[in-house]
Amino acid sequence: MRERSETVTGTVTATGAGSATFRDPDLDARWRAAFDQARENGLFERLSEVYARVPGGRCSGCTACCAESVSTFFVEWLRIRDFLEASGRWSEALNRAEDYARFELARPMKCPMLEADGRCMIYEVRPLTCRIFGHLKAADYGRNLKAVLKANQRAAEEIFKHYGVRLPAAVVERSIPFCESFVSEAPMTSGDRDELFDDLFSIDSRFLMTGLLEPDQIQLGLVDWFAMVRLEGDALAEERVKHAAEMAEAGEKADK
Ligand code: SF4
Ligand code: SF4
Repeated sequence: MRERSETVTGTVTATGAGSATFRDPDLDARWRAAFDQARENGLFERLSEVYARVPGGRCSGCTACCAESVSTFFVEWLRIRDFLEASGRWSEALNRAEDYARFELARPMKCPMLEADGRCMIYEVRPLTCRIFGHLKAADYGRNLKAVLKANQRAAEEIFKHYGVRLPAAVVERSIPFCESFVSEAPMTSGDRDELFDDLFSIDSRFLMTGLLEPDQIQLGLVDWFAMVRLEGDALAEERVKHAAEMAEAGEKADK
């Protein structure tokens, strides 16, 4: 349910959580093969070229935009995972992301890669969505925001129909306001942004062709990639809704 470069927390993706090994033994092998494919075919260089086309800008580092599981292409994910493994922080990041996955529907949460001191744990390899935030012109940002809010409401309705649970309004209606303080060297339109996303889609298509990526795995949320490692999708979906129901119940009691 994530829109391109979405700006609002997603609500309904069903992914899961586990222990320290890959839940699906084939998954690790598939991702390692994909990593090799990327390296041998210069796909990481192509990714860097796309990132290099993002204009420069001045950011105050307020972290207001680090408020969700941002959409992440597979090639970006491969690089993030490699970066975390190389820096010895893979397990820590995995645990943080899984926590996010479990409670995302119950309460608004910051991106799990955000450190307590306001730094990004994966700053050097952060996804395109993070890199372009602040560059989008206000009108385009507003249109995107509206679309995402609508999608979140639709998703919340689906959850209600399926599970009989009303998600907290703080989750469904949550939005990241337009950033007034970022100074872009070249503000972008939706079209400019889409060109960059299309180029990443084209890189990911290479993995589709070799069967290392499934069509429904294009541009998942960052947390969804982590969750896939150890969590059972169906069990996680149930757990997420259960936490949301508990939160709603606690809210009702507090109101009485
Ligand atoms: S882009 Fe804007 S909202 Fe995000 S950290 Fe920078 S100043 Fe804050
Ligand atoms: S990945 Fe980093 S830059 Fe992107 S939202 Fe998370 S903390 Fe912020």
